[in-house]
Amino acid sequence: MMAGSDNAVLDKAWAERWLRESARVIGVHREELIDLDRAIGDGDHGENMDRGFRAIVAKLDEESPDSVAAALKMAAMMLMSKVGGAAGPLYGTAYLRASTAVGDGVALDGQAVAAMLAAARDGIVARGKAQAGDKTMVDAWTPAVDAAGKAADGTAALAAAAAAAEAGAEATKPLVARKGRASYLGERSAGHVDPGAVSTAYILRAAVTATMSKADA
Ligand code: ADP
Ligand code: MG
Repeated sequence: MMAGSDNAVLDKAWAERWLRESARVIGVHREELIDLDRAIGDGDHGENMDRGFRAIVAKLDEESPDSVAAALKMAAMMLMSKVGGAAGPLYGTAYLRASTAVGDGVALDGQAVAAMLAAARDGIVARGKAQAGDKTMVDAWTPAVDAAGKAADGTAALAAAAAAAEAGAEATKPLVARKGRASYLGERSAGHVDPGAVSTAYILRAAVTATMSKADA
């Protein structure tokens, strides 16, 4: 495997690798996401996400999507139907809006990646009404969208987005939650990173990893 892939083709095979890699990474970090959610929520985020992404992989094992948009739409349907709580509808809306944004494009360039991520973030905001700084997954998505918009090509946009999401997730630690279950804790929500922001960072990092490996798609 190469250390990196400049200008990888972001096509339906990449989209499938992204979903499979997301499932793998969420599975690896299942307990961590549970622990994070136990600190400021109800402890189900890792379980919720793992269930949803396992369902996505099961669907991919049945049939490979025939476009990037179809892959994202399938993911949306699975997350909406299999994941309870706040995260299921929020991520479901994100993938559905992302699917619409990429349209019938065969492969995504930098602009398409930025548009896809912006649509996902806008969907989450439309659904959950969280603003930047409310200590939610939006605090990972928004810096990711901003970083992707400045990148030269699709691969660079994904890499910039993932790094920004990771920094954004970490930056939720001192914040007091103003949306979601964690907001019930008030000031006591400070001092813990937001689980949804962390899962967002994992999912966006998976998009980068998916550019590097063409195996096991
Ligand atoms: P629940 O809170 O119903 O148990 P999860 O634990 O699966 O659902 O997901 C919690 C995550 O959902 C939070 O860490 C946060 O990132 C995200 N979240 C909750 N409410 C909102 C909202 N209104 N807008 C954006 N994200 C939200
Ligand atoms: Mg929860």
